[in-house]
Amino acid sequence: MIKVSSCGEARFWKEVLFMEKLFAKNLIDIEPYVAGEQPKNDKIIKLNANENPYPPSPKVQEAISAFDAETLKKYPPMDAAPLRKAIAEFYGIGQDCVFAGNGSDDVLAAAFRAFYNSDKPILYPDITYSFYPVWCELLKIPYETIPVDEGFNIHVEDYFRENGGVVIPNPNAPTTIGLPLKDIEELISHNRSSVVIIDEAYADFSGVSCVPLIKKYDNLVITQTFSKSRSLAGMRVACAIADPYLISYLDAVKDSYNSYPMDAVAIRAGAAAVEDREYFEAACKRIIATRERTAERLRELGFILPDSSANFLFVTHPEHTAKEIFSFLRDKGIFVRFFNKPRIDDHLRITIGSEEDMDALISALTELLGK
Ligand SMILES: *Cc1c(COP(=O)(O)O)cnc(C)c1O
Repeated sequence: MIKVSSCGEARFWKEVLFMEKLFAKNLIDIEPYVAGEQPKNDKIIKLNANENPYPPSPKVQEAISAFDAETLKKYPPMDAAPLRKAIAEFYGIGQDCVFAGNGSDDVLAAAFRAFYNSDKPILYPDITYSFYPVWCELLKIPYETIPVDEGFNIHVEDYFRENGGVVIPNPNAPTTIGLPLKDIEELISHNRSSVVIIDEAYADFSGVSCVPLIKKYDNLVITQTFSKSRSLAGMRVACAIADPYLISYLDAVKDSYNSYPMDAVAIRAGAAAVEDREYFEAACKRIIATRERTAERLRELGFILPDSSANFLFVTHPEHTAKEIFSFLRDKGIFVRFFNKPRIDDHLRITIGSEEDMDALISALTELLGK
């Protein structure tokens, strides 16, 4: 079967022709993940991919400037060791509890491969990171989605049943809602016969991380990314944190398709970013302050939104459709994220940018709402 839904007309006819080919039946049948639009124009205020508006630590610039290109003639350090070591030191855990990869999409894909080989479905929320279904289709993993409630809350009791694995982002995306550590611990302790992945892409903005739980639960895998809180989306750096036994399975998967997913520059830059704790903490604080101020201003404009534990907001307005607001902002050069999907097509996901970005957002919205 061939998907033509998202194709232009020229591509459609090309696909019709290709359907006749004998190899067509052997081509992959998959609906890929669609990321936020990347504008060509620098003047665009980009609030659609949850990137960080601030630069990475100056230590990252120093590490890249000091990098000797000659060393690129050799393969990068085995298992990205300098980066794993820096992450282990940051959290006060053993280096054998850390896996590093080329962005957390790479790490999560390896984890799905390593841990989700059951005939039973894996469980995740119906409203969540839309890459999970993509990997399940790609890797042929059976899955079942568990509906979040009307306020988009996850109830961990819904996951207390037989399954082939559980994956939950905490805080969840795009809903911005975080679960307290005691709920996460309940979720893990009720699922001791499967691996629970907690995707902590945004945990640095909530202050709730389950890293301390890895000592207690050997079925817990945490993934984290440097793309958001450490301003390194363009570098592709991420990690998994778990019991060393599970980490060895991630390494086995990695070594079965690409032994060196992380390049030498990314390893050095990533390590420099983790080593600068002070810069990192100040940067997160700044985003959180802007988030709280923006949420308040949006509520004053009549928007309804849950309290955010992430670096973005998930908003709806009783008098205007999300699509209408999305298009209005787009015309003003402000890109936010609209999901044309059931249950959330009346919402927009808005990344927290700089103070000036948010001022521009609020003044555009004030104009639209005629206040
Ligand atoms: C952004 C994001 C990721 C992946 O980020 P990478 O850039 O691939 O590291 C993973 N999970 C969630 C929930 C995200 O929002």
